[in-house]
Amino acid sequence: MSARTLCIDGAWLPASDGGEFDVVNPATGKVFATASEASPADIDAAVDAARAALSGPWRGLSPAQRGEILWRAAELIDAHADELAELETRDVGQPIGVSRGVNIPAAAAHLRYFAGWPTKIAGSTNPVSLPGVLQYTRKQPVGVCALIIPWNFPFMTTVWKLAPALATGNAVVLKPAEQTPLSTVRLVELLAEAGVPDGVVNLVTGGARAGRLLAEHPRVDKISFTGSTEVGRSIVRASAGNLKRVTLELGGKSPSIVTANADLDLAVEGNLMGNVLNSGQVCAAYSRFYVHASVVEEFTRRLAEAAAGLRIGDGLDERTVLGPLNSAEQLARVQRYVQTARDEGATILSGGSRPGGALADGYFFEPTVVADVRDDMTIVREEIFGPVMPVMSYEGVDELVERANDTEYGLAAAVWTTDLNEAHELAARIDAGAVYVNMLPIPDPAAPWGGFKASGWGREMGAAALDEYLEEKGVWIGGLDL
Ligand code: NAD
Repeated sequence: MSARTLCIDGAWLPASDGGEFDVVNPATGKVFATASEASPADIDAAVDAARAALSGPWRGLSPAQRGEILWRAAELIDAHADELAELETRDVGQPIGVSRGVNIPAAAAHLRYFAGWPTKIAGSTNPVSLPGVLQYTRKQPVGVCALIIPWNFPFMTTVWKLAPALATGNAVVLKPAEQTPLSTVRLVELLAEAGVPDGVVNLVTGGARAGRLLAEHPRVDKISFTGSTEVGRSIVRASAGNLKRVTLELGGKSPSIVTANADLDLAVEGNLMGNVLNSGQVCAAYSRFYVHASVVEEFTRRLAEAAAGLRIGDGLDERTVLGPLNSAEQLARVQRYVQTARDEGATILSGGSRPGGALADGYFFEPTVVADVRDDMTIVREEIFGPVMPVMSYEGVDELVERANDTEYGLAAAVWTTDLNEAHELAARIDAGAVYVNMLPIPDPAAPWGGFKASGWGREMGAAALDEYLEEKGVWIGGLDL
């Protein structure tokens, strides 16, 4: 039977031209599902369904009713949390503890946070100086939003976009990554059960072509994209046709600074997990370490020992800390970067290879600590998206800030210190959308999230996310006797 993973106007359909693709379990390298590859005609149909839904029953719902639907969706996610976590782990490879403890509950938390917003989105009344004129603004949905998602935390990152898009009354077309479409299929089913009217959330599974067609589409009003900086640039170019609104959450190369005043136990543990969470496939992962010269030797030795002790395995095994990378391509990419580090003169202190034995068929890679690293090395300059930890030392703060900021990225950064002044000084001087002090790079629905520089445009989460999905219209009423 052919796969039916397209949802257009509430109907589950195969691709109109019969196109399909395989979905692989990264822990085994084996195909475990198939999905429909949306054709150009399917993309048009999904966009048209979303546009029609904007003037259908969705428009007639009150803000309170929209909020209730979002809250119900969160409850349904909670009720199906185990099933969703297992599906996500099979598809992404991430440890079940991460899908069950972070990915799925974060999606529910986002829906609950944004469920409170529809009743609080207000315009303003403005004191214009024209005689007899009342001027006010109203906020209304941008329209049809295409949400394009990566493979590293698909369920959670889909809801990061979807929750504010629906809270503000838009209709959407979801395009999950071709590596990980399955949890999005379940999400769309649950949204229908929660009461989202047909056509408001459409799903097109498929690869780069589907994403490109959405970015170019003349009847799509907005793209919200999370993924690589390179694809982000192509989306900006593709969206120029109708000058659609664009929000981008792109790559990162987060510096993590361990000062002479750091609590080293905390810093070793926090930097290790800040790097290897989801096998390093986290946009904000701590991925270049600047450690004060007075503590660099001890820090590096302890980091390498701790990395070597992490348990690698199938994500479905409860004991696993490090699952596989998501795909054969991603594994090859990480292997290439580690080889380049060796070629450029760095020393691999721990890891650096694929584990063998029972794990030989999956896309596993050992957590890798790298020493003798220079700022100009490729593993310091480029995003790896894998469990690779290059450690460097520093002495003065000015030099440190210059080196930490010498990157095209600016998504996140970390500071490890017990000195409050040092923490605030570095937080102020580092160019990043989020600076974490003595903690892991964890977002929260109430706080704005996004990047400086080539890490993106706009913000997700918090009140800031709403503006990304709203137009503000001025209404001018003349001839009044005020
Ligand atoms: P990717 O850019 O290759 O793909 C992301 C999505 O874009 C997929 O759905 C893909 O099918 C689609 N796509 C591919 N080519 C396209 C095109 N030309 N036009 C439109 N869509 C296209 O990224 P990836 O490899 O899936 O994800 C990893 C990247 O995502 C990393 O760089 C990571 O830092 C970034 N990321 C950022 C955040 C954040 O919040 N800033 C979060 C997660 C991941």
